[in-house]
Amino acid sequence: MAPVTQPKHDHYDAVFIGGGSGGVAGSRRAASYGKKVALIEVTDHTGGTCVNVGCVPKKIMWHAADIADKIRHAKGYQFLGTSEPQFNWKTFKPQRDAYIRRLNGIYDNNLAKDGVDFYRGFASVTSPTEVSVKQPDGSILTLKTDNVIVATGGRPTVPSEEQIPGASLGINSDGFFDLEDQPKRVAVVGAGYIAVELAGVLHTLGSEVHMFIRGETVLRTFDVSLQETLTPWMEKTGIVFHRGQRVTKVEGTKGQPLTVHTDKGDKVEVDTILWAIGRHANTQGLGLEKLGVKLDDKGDVIANEYQESNVKGIHAVGDVAGRALLTPVAIAAGRRLSNRLFGPEKFKNDKLDYANIPTVVFSHPTIGTVGLTEAEARKKYGDAVKIYKSSFRALYFSMISEEHKEPSFHKLICVGPEEKVVGVHIIGMGSDEIMQGFGVAVKMGATKADLDNTVAIHPTSGEELVTLR
Ligand code: FAD
Ligand code: NDP
Repeated sequence: MAPVTQPKHDHYDAVFIGGGSGGVAGSRRAASYGKKVALIEVTDHTGGTCVNVGCVPKKIMWHAADIADKIRHAKGYQFLGTSEPQFNWKTFKPQRDAYIRRLNGIYDNNLAKDGVDFYRGFASVTSPTEVSVKQPDGSILTLKTDNVIVATGGRPTVPSEEQIPGASLGINSDGFFDLEDQPKRVAVVGAGYIAVELAGVLHTLGSEVHMFIRGETVLRTFDVSLQETLTPWMEKTGIVFHRGQRVTKVEGTKGQPLTVHTDKGDKVEVDTILWAIGRHANTQGLGLEKLGVKLDDKGDVIANEYQESNVKGIHAVGDVAGRALLTPVAIAAGRRLSNRLFGPEKFKNDKLDYANIPTVVFSHPTIGTVGLTEAEARKKYGDAVKIYKSSFRALYFSMISEEHKEPSFHKLICVGPEEKVVGVHIIGMGSDEIMQGFGVAVKMGATKADLDNTVAIHPTSGEELVTLR
């Protein structure tokens, strides 16, 4: 746990609220310019969602699941004696937690090293130049500042008991990381990033998984090719889909089997129900509305392209601003804001460009995507859109039995006579690692000819994207 520092300065250049991806990155950058900076975090663990209950423990679980898959595949490569993997969740969890605690320590040390004053407590904004901190011992600390940066992130949305009786019997993604034992049977409600990723991990590690989705496919905001490749593959591997259904009721007692009921009459007994139906901003109790800061109907702060709210001196970065809820987005927005406010002249207009942000879904197999979906491109550019696509199996699967042969699908969306690449959507082994480089290409304005002029790397899955015809 980081030491609780006493105020070292009467007046700060910037006070960052929230010790997650955006707050830590932004405050350290501001301090690097010699500014007086404070950071306030309410929990005992610095690093925010990504480090504690998001990207990092999730990716570790994904790696565990990936190894389980590889053990299943090993037979195809004549590794004899391998059988169904036995994952010991109970002993793995403390090992994973210990790693996260190490990261928390690294975050604390980095803040101290960079000279950021760290305060533990719940912050609220009492004026555009004053932040109040309720410390763990109940005392109130008041910090004066020229700039307030709200970086309080978000939290999982869970239906109320009025909306779905028994909803509180379920857990959310935070609760997933608290599970001491692997649940044998799980209902996952939702169809976005978290539902897909956690359902995939649980199923691959051996749980019986039921997905309750309102539509016909998962990831409905993604390119249709990704939805239509991943959903049937998840189903083929054994995840049970309850399509076009809404959960209406959960019956049972905590710690005992639960029964999930849907509006189509499905009734399933499980050990755990996981709500993964989206997230909303942590703006409750911050005092922003009282100061006239505009929030949208989800409670997200409405910020302009410079991360400014409508009240001068109050800024918002990361998930709390409700756009592209991704760690690198929060980090980039925090750093650029500090560059602009406190950095050299060359940064006086620095801001994050939210166009063409590459992103990955850690499904099985993984998905990588950047730019417009086909539907978005057709809406924007009509007949000027040209699609290139390829459906194939990665060479790796040539030695592996039919039931485990994962699909790969790559799609390029090009526009106009110069065939500018405005979207890349890939699914299949290695898509997570392939995507970053193509993200650079799209950001630089690559055309189909640029990809064609790039010599392929053989034999890889990525080479498909430079050899599409
Ligand atoms: P956060 O990291 O949430 O930090 C906000 C901090 O503010 C928290 O520590 C909170 O305790 C603190 N706080 C809140 N209110 C107050 C207050 N009043 N006073 C003081 N402190 C306060 N993104 C990716 O890019 N890749 C991934 O693979 C990925 N996986 C994810 C998996 C899961 C399960 C989840 C939930 C999210 C995942 N994300 C991923 C999203 C990513 O975690 C977030 O986009 C990122 O953490 C946002 O950073 P932030 O700084 O805006 O907020
Ligand atoms: P998402 O917004 O990704 O997905 C939530 C989905 O749940 C919706 O798309 C919707 O799908 C479904 N849904 C919404 N309300 C209901 C409801 N009442 N009942 C049933 N289903 C519902 O949210 P997540 O919580 O999955 O993740 C939050 C964000 O965190 C992501 O958007 C992403 O930005 C970030 N994240 C990033 C990751 C990464 O980078 N790999 C991993 C995890 C999270 P439909 O309309 O089809 O029903």
